[in-house]
Amino acid sequence: MSEEKQGHISLQEWQSWGTTSPVPSMVTQIVEDLKDLEKNFDAQMSFGGHGGKLKGNFGVQEDKKHRATYQSLGDSEEKFKFYSARQIACRILGSRGYLCQKCWLPREEDCMCSKVTSCMLWPGIKFWLYMHPKDFLRQNNTGKLLWQVFGVEAATLCLYGIPEHEEIMWNSFKLAGKDKIWCLYPNKGSVSKSVESAFSQEPLANYEVTPEKLTGDTTLHFILLDGTWSNSAAMFCRLQDQAKSVWGDEDLACISLNPGASAMHKLRPQPSWDRTCTAAAAVGLLSELQLLPQFSSIDLDKQAEAIEDALTILLEALTTRRLRMGRSITRKMRPTNSTFSQGKVHNTENEAQHLPLEI
Ligand SMILES: [Zn+2]
Repeated sequence: MSEEKQGHISLQEWQSWGTTSPVPSMVTQIVEDLKDLEKNFDAQMSFGGHGGKLKGNFGVQEDKKHRATYQSLGDSEEKFKFYSARQIACRILGSRGYLCQKCWLPREEDCMCSKVTSCMLWPGIKFWLYMHPKDFLRQNNTGKLLWQVFGVEAATLCLYGIPEHEEIMWNSFKLAGKDKIWCLYPNKGSVSKSVESAFSQEPLANYEVTPEKLTGDTTLHFILLDGTWSNSAAMFCRLQDQAKSVWGDEDLACISLNPGASAMHKLRPQPSWDRTCTAAAAVGLLSELQLLPQFSSIDLDKQAEAIEDALTILLEALTTRRLRMGRSITRKMRPTNSTFSQGKVHNTENEAQHLPLEI
């Protein structure tokens, strides 16, 4: 029997969901525990909805068991990692065979992969999608579009609370150096800089535009927080804590996008999609950089456009799906991730306000 038939998550299956990391050990452990529980209770696990929630008697038993495990864990960091790994494990088991691994839409009816055109991101920029576990494998997530279009090396998934992912990201940051790391976070107040103030003073030589002249240490790393507004504050805190442990007291630099930027650059009239979702934030960043002289000749506008196109395709796929299922087109299906929406929470799905309570 193959690994997947037995229920385990193989490296190949794991990486097909959009990552290059090894399978997180705690995710493997949780899947094994679930399979053991299945044997012990002689009841098959089944999942309801798209959130990877366990159903029926098995669900009741598993609920007791994971709560006991959670309680037994010593500190809040261990509890948090267990929470994240369990979310990821359940989401994979509940989506396996149903969702397309690339676009995270139901593969039989809604897969949009054939319509998406990939594009090369300028090698002087790298995106990190720091994603909340509750957004992993979510159909209306938009962060996934970045690696669909730019590839997993240029836009890399980092799951919040998954040590294997966070380690890869932080090792990369340590190599790059603190002054090359920017977090896109709409921090009100003076702590965050605008794109213009952050980059227009930089000497041209730092951003030689020909890829041949680029060396690893000139790459700019941009972190996009991919979660709802309520979750992104906790995600941002974790980033700052980790930055402090690596570089000492100073905060990680933040960038705020210009709220009027969509009028400044030629964002095409697309009132249908939300301009505050994660992918739109990437579009905004690339478009604002394009306006600066030292970035003006590297086609960042075309790269922004490629993401806009993918967003349009995702919205169409979600709309088609909703209409087919006889549901009205409400805000619920819009691709909204609210980190960039300045407190307007669009998601109607219940979100964890306080992670430990949610378990
Ligand atoms: Zn697909």
